[in-house]
Amino acid sequence: INREKTKVTEFSIMEDEEGEEYLFKVVIIGDSAVGKSNLLSRYARNEFNINSKATIGVEFQTQSMEIDGKEVKAQIWDTAGQERFRAVTSAYYRGAVGALVVYDISRRSTFDSVARWLDELKTHSETTVARMLVGNKSDLENIRDVSVEEGKSLAEAEGLFFIETSALDSTNVKKAFEIVIREIYNNISRKVL
Ligand code: GDP
Ligand code: MG
Repeated sequence: INREKTKVTEFSIMEDEEGEEYLFKVVIIGDSAVGKSNLLSRYARNEFNINSKATIGVEFQTQSMEIDGKEVKAQIWDTAGQERFRAVTSAYYRGAVGALVVYDISRRSTFDSVARWLDELKTHSETTVARMLVGNKSDLENIRDVSVEEGKSLAEAEGLFFIETSALDSTNVKKAFEIVIREIYNNISRKVL
């Protein structure tokens, strides 16, 4: 990874004097109530809220992980209710190099919306974005409305990673974020950013 390349996306990377600090912007998108805020609170603070009320405005959390012996930080943004009014602004997407596109496996309409979210993401992207399709609420198997196969094949067709998660019981939450963060790191190493 050379210094020249790391200047390209000023929003996504910050360096210390040794050129060894990484800060990536990751956005979480998807319909209202699919569990975006809970995925983030589960990952960043290991918290879950049964009655999370959507608050208006953008919030983000910064999380670190280690890759190749380097500290890699992800600044993970939550729409925090903007999506209810279809009013996610371009500022929200600006500089994002990773995205989790979330639907609720127990609510088909949220899966049908994925295409629209991907379009919106593409419209606002200036660079390669590491994208993960996330089928959340996997704990609700008894009222499942979207099969694993459907999730997988949509992801394959669109060239996305795919995972099912549960913010409620923690299944795959860490994994979902870390796969995206690792892929961003790989994209930078391959200089596609
Ligand atoms: P957001 O609008 O996409 O940010 O969704 P929230 O995180 O606010 O969650 C919406 C509702 O779904 C809340 O009542 C959560 O408690 C619930 N929820 C979120 N994640 C899960 C999950 O993995 N399983 C179940 N059963 N409920 C969840
Ligand atoms: Mg929310």
